[in-house]
Amino acid sequence: MNLFALLDQTATRLPDRGAVYLGERRVCTWAQLRDRALRLAAGLGPAGSRIAIASENRPEIVELMFAAWAAECVVVPLNYKLHPREMADILADAEAAVVFASPDIAARLRGHTAVPVEVIGADGYAARLAADPVVPPRHTDPAALAWLFYTSGTTGKSKGAMLSHRNLMAMTVAHLADFDDPDEHCSLVHGAPMSHGSGLYIPPYVARGARQVVPASHGFDAEEFLDLCEHHPGAAAFLAPTMVARLVDTGRPRPANLRTIVYGGGPMYVESLRRAMTAFGPEIFVQLYGQGEAPMTITGLRRADHRLDADDAVLGSVGYPRSGVDVAVRRADGSFAGPGQIGEIVCRGDVVMAGYWKNPEATAATLADGWLHTGDLGSFDERGYLTLRDRSKDVVISGGSNIYPREVEEVLLTHPGVTEACVVGAPDPEWGEIVVAFIVGTATPEELDAHLLDRIARFKRPKRYEYIDELPKSSYGKVLKRELRARLTT
Ligand code: AMP
Repeated sequence: MNLFALLDQTATRLPDRGAVYLGERRVCTWAQLRDRALRLAAGLGPAGSRIAIASENRPEIVELMFAAWAAECVVVPLNYKLHPREMADILADAEAAVVFASPDIAARLRGHTAVPVEVIGADGYAARLAADPVVPPRHTDPAALAWLFYTSGTTGKSKGAMLSHRNLMAMTVAHLADFDDPDEHCSLVHGAPMSHGSGLYIPPYVARGARQVVPASHGFDAEEFLDLCEHHPGAAAFLAPTMVARLVDTGRPRPANLRTIVYGGGPMYVESLRRAMTAFGPEIFVQLYGQGEAPMTITGLRRADHRLDADDAVLGSVGYPRSGVDVAVRRADGSFAGPGQIGEIVCRGDVVMAGYWKNPEATAATLADGWLHTGDLGSFDERGYLTLRDRSKDVVISGGSNIYPREVEEVLLTHPGVTEACVVGAPDPEWGEIVVAFIVGTATPEELDAHLLDRIARFKRPKRYEYIDELPKSSYGKVLKRELRARLTT
C-alpha cells in the first residue's frame, strides 16, 4: 500500500482535469501532476530516505510529496516560520538526504545546515523534472514510513512522529467517512500551512480528484481566501480556529462555493463558534480533534452537530470517536473513567503513529500498553461526546483544587469587553499555584470578577489579570502558554 496510488488512480480516471492551482490559475492537470511526480522521484532515494520540504504554501509541495512516495521515501515538511537554526536541528535529527526549499527559505537556510538545499523552481529543480519517470511502486509495505511529522513543539523540543502509509490511509478513509465527501467538482483551498494540517488533507482530496488550490500570496489572507472560495467549486479547507475568526471579522457573507471548513488543532470557544455559524451557516462546519501522533483523527464534531440550537455542551465538545479509532479516558491508576469523570485521553487504531523517530524513551512513554497517551485531559458525557479540558501540564492546581483553564477562558470570553483570554497558573507560596488570566480587551478586573462570580465557582476565579495587546501564538495559531508563563516569572 502506497499513498502514490491515490494520485495514480485519479490521474488515470481524470487525466485532463485541473489538479493544482495557484490562485485562480491552473498549474497542471492530474496527468501532468503524476508525470512530474514520477520524474522528480527518479532523483530521490534510496527507499526510506528522508526528503525535507521547507517552503511557504506552494503548488510544488503537492508534486514533491507524491514524488517522495513514488520513490518510497519519507517526506519531512518543516514549519517554514521556524528560525533557520531550528529548521537545521530538525534536518539533522531526521538525517534528511535533501531539503527542497522555496527561494526565500533557501536563502535563510544557507550556512545553517549541512543538508543539500535544492531551490524549488530553480535550474536544478527543472533538471530533475527532465529525468525519465520511474515506474510507480506496487509493493510498498504499508508500515513503511511516509511522513515524519515534527510536532509543533509548544511543549518543548520538537519530536518526529513516524507516520506510515497505513496511518495516513486510515486518516484519509476516516476523513472521507466522517467529515467530507468531495469529488472532482470540489476544491481543497490551502489556507493553513501545507507542512502541517492542510498538507495532511492532500491525500483524501487527491483521492477524489478535488483541485488543490494554493493562494497566490502563499499564506493566509482572509479576503483572498474568501475570494478563492467564490471562484473555485465546492471549496473545503482546514483552518485553525484563529483563521476562522479572521474570516468572520471581514463581515463578508459566506462565499457561494464554500462547502466545508474543518477547524481544530486548538480550542474553538463556544462563543466564537456561534459567531462563525451565524456568519456562514452552521452546516459548513466540522471540528477535528487530533494530534501529530494520530494525524487529524481522534474525535470529531460532525456537520450535523453544528446547529445553532445545539447546547453549549455539544458545541464546546470535540465530538465523538472517528471511524476506526478507539478512544477512552483513563484515570491516573490506568482504570477507565466513567461519564463525567476526567482523565487522560487515550486512543488506538490504524491511524496511531509507530513511535517517535530515534527517540525510544519518548515512544515508550507515549505508546504504553497498546494506547496512544495524548497528554490531553477530558471526559465523555452520558451522550458520548468528549469534552477536552486541557493538556495535563496546563491544569492549574491551586490550594489542592484542579482548575481547568479552558473552562475559565470560555466564561471570560462571554464578557463583551473581552476579545481574547488565556488562563495559566503562576507559582504562589501560599496556594502552590494561582490562576492568572491574560486578557485582550477593555473589561476591568472588577467587571470580570463580577461576571465570573455569577457563573463559576469562586475558587476558579483569576487572582490576577494581565492586560496585553495580543496573545502570543505559534505559526500554526496555537496560543503559546509557555511564553505567557515565562512573562510571569521574569
Ligand atoms: P499538534 O500535534 O501540534 O497538532 O497538537 C495537538 C494538540 O492540539 C492536541 O493534543 C490538543 O491538545 C490540541 N488540539 C487539537 N485539536 C483540538 C481541538 N479540536 N480542540 C482543542 N484542542 C485541540
